Amino acid sequence: MRQALIVIDVQKDFCPGGALAVPEGDAIVPGINNLMAKADAVILTQDWHPAEHSSFASSHAGKSPYDRVEMPYGSQVLWPDHCIQGSVGAQFHPDLQTDKADLVIRKGYNPAIDSYSAFFENDHATPTGLEGYLRTRGIDEVTLVGLALDFCVNFSAVDAAKLGFCVTVREDLCRAIDLDGSLAAARAGMETAGVTLEQGHG
Ligand SMILES: [Zn+2]
Repeated sequence: MRQALIVIDVQKDFCPGGALAVPEGDAIVPGINNLMAKADAVILTQDWHPAEHSSFASSHAGKSPYDRVEMPYGSQVLWPDHCIQGSVGAQFHPDLQTDKADLVIRKGYNPAIDSYSAFFENDHATPTGLEGYLRTRGIDEVTLVGLALDFCVNFSAVDAAKLGFCVTVREDLCRAIDLDGSLAAARAGMETAGVTLEQGHG
């Protein structure tokens, strides 16, 4: 088996002090760096939105962050403005060993649609290209870590499993937002999809 480590959205805006901070989001960085040396390929994802992205509450009159709206592709949580292209908040956490990455895949750049998953936009149909990259590299097993466990890690893990990859999520190297039970729902959904949830050590 050839194995890739996929590091989801370890960016300043998702860490304490950021625009959409995940509690303890920065605590996972040393453990992620340690895992990089063991992988056949290291892929980083980077949430990368144009200003006024449709996933921002500020783009919808009368809406507040964490409200939901119906979009053409389904229900969408509205977020504070975050990870705007070229902004400081969109940068990777400064301690993340980005030099070790083979590929950085940016997502959420389409103004009209969000992209939680590293594989598909939120219509579950428009590909990011990551599947093709992994297949041409001969990767059949993926390990996911990063932020946030119940959104972008969850969507990426379920898509990877549906695409036929052998998928492990290292829960100890993820942190969650946990919005209205989203963490429990994400765990159940990942297990149903055949994702292995693992509490590793270092
Ligand atoms: Zn985003």
